[in-house]
Amino acid sequence: MVLEVIVDISTSEIDRPFDYEGDDVPVGSRVAVGFGNKRTVGFVVGKKAESDYPNLKRAEYLDTPVSAEQLRLMEYMRENYNLRHIDVLRLFVPSKLRDERDPETKKLFLALNPELSGEALSKAVSRAKKQAQTVEYLKSSGGEYNSVLSDKFGAAAVKALRDKGVLTESAVHETRVPLKTLAGKKKDVVLTDEQRAAVDGICTHKGVCLLHGVTGSGKTEVYQAVIERTLAEGKTAIMLVPEISLTPQMLGIFRARFGDNVAVLHSGLNASERYDEWKRLRDGRAKIAIGARSAVFAPLADIGAIIIDEEHDSSYISESNPRYDTKTVAEFRAAACNAVLVLGSATPDIETYLKATQGKYRLFSLKNRISSHKLPEMEIVDMTREFRYGNRSVFSAALADAMRGALERKEQIMIFLNRRGFSSFIMCKECGYVAKCEDCDVSLTYHKAENVLKCHCCGRRYHALSKCPQCGSTSIKQGKVGTEKIVEELHNLFPDARVLRMDNDTTSRKDSYFAILDKFAAGKADILVGTQMIAKGHDFPNVTLVGILEADSALYFSDYRSSERTFQLVTQVAGRAGRADKKGRVVLQTFAPRHYVFAFASQYDYEGFWRKENNTRMVTKFPPYTKVVRVLVAAADEQAVADCTRAIYKGIKELEGRLGGFVYTGAAKSPVTRMHGLVRYQVLMRIQPEIFDEAMKTVYRLVNENKPTKGSSFAEINPQSLI
Ligand code: ADP
Ligand code: ZN
Ligand code: ZN
Repeated sequence: MVLEVIVDISTSEIDRPFDYEGDDVPVGSRVAVGFGNKRTVGFVVGKKAESDYPNLKRAEYLDTPVSAEQLRLMEYMRENYNLRHIDVLRLFVPSKLRDERDPETKKLFLALNPELSGEALSKAVSRAKKQAQTVEYLKSSGGEYNSVLSDKFGAAAVKALRDKGVLTESAVHETRVPLKTLAGKKKDVVLTDEQRAAVDGICTHKGVCLLHGVTGSGKTEVYQAVIERTLAEGKTAIMLVPEISLTPQMLGIFRARFGDNVAVLHSGLNASERYDEWKRLRDGRAKIAIGARSAVFAPLADIGAIIIDEEHDSSYISESNPRYDTKTVAEFRAAACNAVLVLGSATPDIETYLKATQGKYRLFSLKNRISSHKLPEMEIVDMTREFRYGNRSVFSAALADAMRGALERKEQIMIFLNRRGFSSFIMCKECGYVAKCEDCDVSLTYHKAENVLKCHCCGRRYHALSKCPQCGSTSIKQGKVGTEKIVEELHNLFPDARVLRMDNDTTSRKDSYFAILDKFAAGKADILVGTQMIAKGHDFPNVTLVGILEADSALYFSDYRSSERTFQLVTQVAGRAGRADKKGRVVLQTFAPRHYVFAFASQYDYEGFWRKENNTRMVTKFPPYTKVVRVLVAAADEQAVADCTRAIYKGIKELEGRLGGFVYTGAAKSPVTRMHGLVRYQVLMRIQPEIFDEAMKTVYRLVNENKPTKGSSFAEINPQSLI
């Protein structure tokens, strides 16, 4: 039999099937092959009786980790996103399967030799105290890993026992439960009428459903009920959440309800943990995959439901190779499996809601909060007015008062500011010098605790400046404040308050993110200051006050989504207040108090906002009425970048002439012209839906044909960021 094999090497030159001789194994099988003078693994994507090539090498069968259904998904993604076979295949299989070695790390497991009598045993250890203790321990435990025993009783004692033949030895694969949580409590809730209607409707629908529910309306309960019914039908389910929302609390809820049926796929897992969880799903021992976007590729058969929580979240778009949009992928996979796809959000993506109004998606609404309290009242504070009246603090009088009140009542507070560090943008008052990164075209941010300047683009660090390197002046102006500075201000204002901070700087270690949340949940802090990390999903019953600082900071990016983003962020952050039996309040500080985003957000009027925004997009021909495509060309050599960009632009102009249907096409340097030391140019276009698929074939071809040497070119659809 001739097998068509994709080898596990990621370069464009060899991104095609190679013929090998092998047994008649299923497609999706993993094989070991020789390639050039290397040995590598590969994946069988097709079979045929004969090859055009003589003297085929042999492929050795290893296992079958990929299903035929996943291979069809691979084809779809390749075509839709211009991806390489192997880059998609790697999404389906854990990294442990990337070589021939046994993916399971076996550990030595020791137990007492059952053939030895009690007498023989005590004789063997009669003059060795540590050995005797080891034997006692094994009597009660029944057996233990060598590593654990050696830690407890010393390697010498364990070795002596093994040498004497007192122990039996076996190699055991140790499976661990990742992200262990303190026992999640199973809540027995009775679904509300709204919830029940949604569950019934979703479970009888095949296709896509939008679950639009205000924050705290009990969407998570709906998801669980849908999953429960899916399992009852003998099917499996995938539950996707934004990376940041997959907290131990959330996992605890699902484990309490579904036990070992839950497997988690999360970037915080190490390779072994990831493999173990993957294997449980693959073998049918776990029927629910819960995780961030990559869990959409979970190795499940008979999928009955795919659920995407916070479907508007930008983390569902993969922005590095392989680039894809999880929602589109999930929609394809759900359709292929005849499963229902549920998109849930309090602030759906403009396009998702449009499809719901057009009847392409079925809409279910949860209009009420579960708690007896309505959505928290939101007060909009005009910071220009505060400034005119002489308030130079980062907190308005209203927010400072509200914080004082909450602290007195022993209630908790969350303060949101979407800028980390101490202060951004350091400028010399004498000569105007601004500290910038040498590798990127961005200004640096001062971090006080570490006393360094950091580039938030590439992470590079620089010495803090005490005087201007250009003119020597010591009068250096600090720019916009960040979370670190807010904590300092809070300490000045409320010296007794216990303050925690959560942002990229305080959560660089894998477990610190959870540690901060746990601490706050346990009431060991009064105020939590953070970036958008604190906006998502958390359910802290004692939080009654949310402060939003510089709510307009994202409004003026030259991005067609800036209003939508701001509305989503404000709604999400505000939704953290007053979730249980205490009334909540939100104070929003802005320099643009009359902006329509805040008018709608403060009334929690999603529909009103959507109508206005949708209308603007229609009139100005932005998504969802067109698709924005950006081709980005990057390399160290600016001339090469310019040449490739020009060639691509020329090809696209020709295409435009031929097809029509382009709203805009332009080529220019990227706003951030240098990043990580590479020069970046881009071609931007907006394309009408009717000719989009047709146009992209040519765009992808142009991109593939015009890559600078030692650089890259790629196309993104509706990119998250245009910098
Ligand atoms: P959302 O995801 O919509 O923001 P959650 O699912 O987190 O809301 O629900 C908010 C709170 O209400 C949670 O503490 C949840 O356990 C509780 N809850 C949800 N549904 C019910 C119900 N039917 N009865 C009682 N409590 C509920
Ligand atoms: Zn200067
Ligand atoms: Zn940099």
